[in-house]
Amino acid sequence: MKFVDEVRIEVSAGNGGNGCLSFRREKYVAKGGPDGGDGGDGGSVTLRADPALNTLVDYRYQRQFRAENGASGAGRNRTGASGSDLILPVPVGTVVLDAPTGDLVGELLEPGAQLRVAQGGFHGLGNTRFKSSTNQAPRQTTPGSQGESRSLRLELSVLADIGLLGLPNAGKSTLLAAASAAKPRIADYPFTTLVPQLGVVRIDALRSFVLADIPGLIEGASDGAGLGVRFLKHLTRSRLLLHLVDIAPLDGSSPLDSVRSINRELASFSPTLASRDQWIVLNKIDAVSSELLEQTLELLRRECAPTPVHAISAVSGRGVDRLMADLMTALEQCWEGESEHSKVNCGVSELQIQRQMREEARASTDALRRSRQATSVESDSGSDEDDDDVEIEYVR
Ligand code: GDP
Ligand code: MG
Repeated sequence: MKFVDEVRIEVSAGNGGNGCLSFRREKYVAKGGPDGGDGGDGGSVTLRADPALNTLVDYRYQRQFRAENGASGAGRNRTGASGSDLILPVPVGTVVLDAPTGDLVGELLEPGAQLRVAQGGFHGLGNTRFKSSTNQAPRQTTPGSQGESRSLRLELSVLADIGLLGLPNAGKSTLLAAASAAKPRIADYPFTTLVPQLGVVRIDALRSFVLADIPGLIEGASDGAGLGVRFLKHLTRSRLLLHLVDIAPLDGSSPLDSVRSINRELASFSPTLASRDQWIVLNKIDAVSSELLEQTLELLRRECAPTPVHAISAVSGRGVDRLMADLMTALEQCWEGESEHSKVNCGVSELQIQRQMREEARASTDALRRSRQATSVESDSGSDEDDDDVEIEYVR
């Protein structure tokens, strides 16, 4: 299964500037020769892979891009200024397709890689250029040519930066919907309704991350859990788990107990994932008194220290923006630490951790499959669906 963040944009390169028709006009020079200058070239549009970018979500806010036109030439053989190129930053790993045909235009796989997607127009020629021994006063010029215009589709495979944990009804789906600016498309997983939900959270221009709600990951019911285990691989890139807790569940159970039971299950699925940083988030604070909120916060902070405990209302939005901004900052710190690590090449590398998590996910899946086969004679045929294409490592 593959999640694809995708946007369509229109790019236009600048037109070339026209050539100028002009003759020298000076006192005492009766018939000056031609002196019309050439136009300038139009600017091109180029994509550049920027390692600081994580998603394509910014391109949902602006979709049309135009590079500068070249200026026209002028008299006294002045050449028009060239239009500047327009450089658009995209995340590393972006695949560029021609939107109408679906043809591959190129891929930006290395930080700093560049791809020219629309060629600027060529400059027109001024009449000076057409002067010859037989034609001393040419009136001929050429216009600048048009810059290229294209409609492009940008695609990026994404894995989750942050995973959501929580009992059913904790409000995971509600939070994901409230915080997401965009939903990545599932590339190829037509036969099930229970799939991970990914949302792109946009904090501001050039800062965004991917949040994932994995249905049935830890939801008690054995069938749901089985599915969740299969999806576990989507969380291997997650740096941080958001553990959502209903502050006042209808069944009267205690938030602390539900935190503990979920963490026990998580540890049995994948100890490595369980050892990731976790933030506890009390949800539905709109439904309780401020006294109860304070009490519960205090209890969880005491019992779960040093895990940070936040409080939000996914429905009213209270605390959600703040939480997302804090998550973004925490992620950026992780990423920064990682790049420093890889520079000096010490410690357990992030890639090793991810590999270990994938192995644990595979082991849990196998164990589950065996226990299913032991209990039921006809094991469901769909259970062999291969998630191995999640192996693609989307390296920052
Ligand atoms: P999930 O099972 O964890 O995905 O939970 P859902 O997002 O489906 O939410 C379960 C129920 O809780 C739904 O009826 C939501 O409307 C409700 N809910 C979610 N967040 C809040 C909240 O902040 N306040 C209140 N009062 N209800 C909420
Ligand atoms: Mg849900």
